[in-house]
Amino acid sequence: MTGAPTRRLPIPTPPVTWETVTSYLERLAATNHTAVRDIEAAIDASPNKVSYSHKRNFNLDKLSALTGQPADHLRRVLPELRQPAPRWWLFQAFPRPACPPCVRRHRGGPVHRYYPHHVTACVKHNLWLGTRAPAATAWPVTDHAINIERLPEIKSAQVRHRRLVRRYGQAAVLIATRAAFDAWEHIHGRYLGHNQDRRLTVLQPAAHQHHLEDPAFHAASYPEIVAAANLFVTRRWQIQATFPMTQNHAYAAFCNLLDLSIRYDPLPTGHRNRLTTLIDNHVRPHSTNHNMITSAGIRYTGPRAGWTAQ
Ligand SMILES: [Zn+2]
Repeated sequence: MTGAPTRRLPIPTPPVTWETVTSYLERLAATNHTAVRDIEAAIDASPNKVSYSHKRNFNLDKLSALTGQPADHLRRVLPELRQPAPRWWLFQAFPRPACPPCVRRHRGGPVHRYYPHHVTACVKHNLWLGTRAPAATAWPVTDHAINIERLPEIKSAQVRHRRLVRRYGQAAVLIATRAAFDAWEHIHGRYLGHNQDRRLTVLQPAAHQHHLEDPAFHAASYPEIVAAANLFVTRRWQIQATFPMTQNHAYAAFCNLLDLSIRYDPLPTGHRNRLTTLIDNHVRPHSTNHNMITSAGIRYTGPRAGWTAQ
């Protein structure tokens, strides 16, 4: 026996590219003045998640009938429904709020989306959206994005980051950015360089402390991270870093990029240290497959999809 045909919701609500299914269902409910549980019942959604790794199912044909959106279009726009599944390792670890002005015409917000690693700011609206690197899990505590208008170097770094991806591909830039992030963390730890201190004062003038997972903290060091990634990703620098005769030249090029207002000697003569080992590991060849990428013993697997369509 089949159930009654699914009735279309009265107010059309198209999905946003890269939107999460959960975000979409919440907006459908909000624009149509109904409860999310009623939407879930209408699409035969499985019971609510029991754990972080648990995936929920629903009937795609019923979602299509409910929304008036063709099933093919839903599969194309919503990454969780794609067949075959997207390469999740190309996306940041967690979905994030979309740039509010960019999605203003989409009602029922906020919109939460999966973002590729290299999309960290909206260059059109000067808003910081993301983290500085794949290792970071900073999550905005509100949907109010951070205005970076007064710090044009952050926007320039985002433009440069996207240009690197166009030139070298997502995988190579992902690894270079992670290497830059790790090198940065190794050198600075929980302390701020001069540039970060200055930028944080602009971004959050009232704050006396900054949490390491605060997105503003990430925005403040992003220009230096991208500058280092810009170096690490080049084949010329990787070859220099591989051979003993040219290694010091390669490390010196990296050190010249740093904001070394804190006292640090990254290259003690004649000694290897954690930084040089870390850089060496990252310049080795890396392997990829559909589900993940591995480099220097680090596995990039991306976010966990919350839903799957039947
Ligand atoms: Zn925008």
